[in-house]
Amino acid sequence: MTPPAGWLDLPPDTGFGLENLPLGVFSGTADDRRRVGVAVGDHVLDVSALDVPGRAELGTGSLNAFLAVGRPTWDALRDRVLDLLTDPVHRAVVEPHLHPRAGVTLHLPIEVADYVDFYSSQHHAENLGRILRPGAPALTPNWRHQPIGYHGRAGTVAVSGTPVVRPHGQRRVAGAAGDDAPTFGPSERLDLEAEVGFVVGVPSEPGRPVAASDFAEHVFGVCLVNDWSARDLQAWETVPLGPFTGKSFLTSMSPWVVPLTALEGARVDPPERDTELLPYLRDDGLRWGLDLTLEVRLNGEPVSHPPFAAMYWTPPQQLAHLTANGAALRTGDLFASGTVSGPEPGQLGSLIELSANGAEPLTLADGSRRTFLEDGDEIVLSATAPAPDGTRIALGEVRGRVVGVTPERAG
Ligand code: CA
Repeated sequence: MTPPAGWLDLPPDTGFGLENLPLGVFSGTADDRRRVGVAVGDHVLDVSALDVPGRAELGTGSLNAFLAVGRPTWDALRDRVLDLLTDPVHRAVVEPHLHPRAGVTLHLPIEVADYVDFYSSQHHAENLGRILRPGAPALTPNWRHQPIGYHGRAGTVAVSGTPVVRPHGQRRVAGAAGDDAPTFGPSERLDLEAEVGFVVGVPSEPGRPVAASDFAEHVFGVCLVNDWSARDLQAWETVPLGPFTGKSFLTSMSPWVVPLTALEGARVDPPERDTELLPYLRDDGLRWGLDLTLEVRLNGEPVSHPPFAAMYWTPPQQLAHLTANGAALRTGDLFASGTVSGPEPGQLGSLIELSANGAEPLTLADGSRRTFLEDGDEIVLSATAPAPDGTRIALGEVRGRVVGVTPERAG
């Protein structure tokens, strides 16, 4: 499994070593043309310029064309890139196509077809249940029987670094004067949700459910997702039909998509389930829990380390459920895990949990306190996974800074 040491000098503990080789879309070297690159060390390798499998699809401006061709070509490209970066005979041909990552612009890697957001952390679902439905059972009766999810807004999925313009909407503050009348204005409870996203490459036919065991034939890889959430808008609108304007203003995605193949060393058994599952959701032996460790930084300060291995529902189960009714997959579909929260206080993936719904503000290193996000706050999500050779694979990061009310809206 361990690849030979390449001719490249890789920075120690890069996270973007030869075990990783994630794909993204970049521009800004000789011209502004968007093409597919592979992150390696502090560089991006312009694979669209090299004689590699799938080359015709790599210069199209997004990953979609390449993702549609399927696993044999995904794996062939990976093998070829590994060969190019290790065998010194290729060095003279490859080196001109390695560009410092600091000098390129990274773009949204996929044209997002459909976006689905799940709710697969039992700890998160129970925490939110206790906050939003006090006195009722923490989990709804369906939660242990199916991966709960909803369709989000594909058109507002944006790449890491996109400003988070504070959303406006309807909210009603219980206990405030005029309690019954909602008001319209900027969200006062803007939150993050630390999530892991799965990118679909190979489509499926309408009417033909995808089995959990076919997960790796359809899904190319993994990214990080921040599902920004306006809790005040969400609380007022969610019953009876689910999340809408409290979520649809922006979802941020990391620029590098890590191939499933790179995560072989991170596969673990999911947690013990205490409920018998319907046959289409059984994932015995698939072992698609993933030992990813996420980090949430607020203005540079780590505030949480959510463990993805604690997720109750695995991505193959999510895929099986979202196609169980015959809904077809399209290339570029993105489905996210839902907020990743673990059982410990330092493992919560949202501020509504970290601040106990605003009742217990976090105190930051500079002495300031936070319940929800303030204008100017920056959230950076990152994650690493174990590689088979004992090093760590980086999933990169997804970054976003909150921008306050724009003058035209304030006016
Ligand atoms: Ca979410």
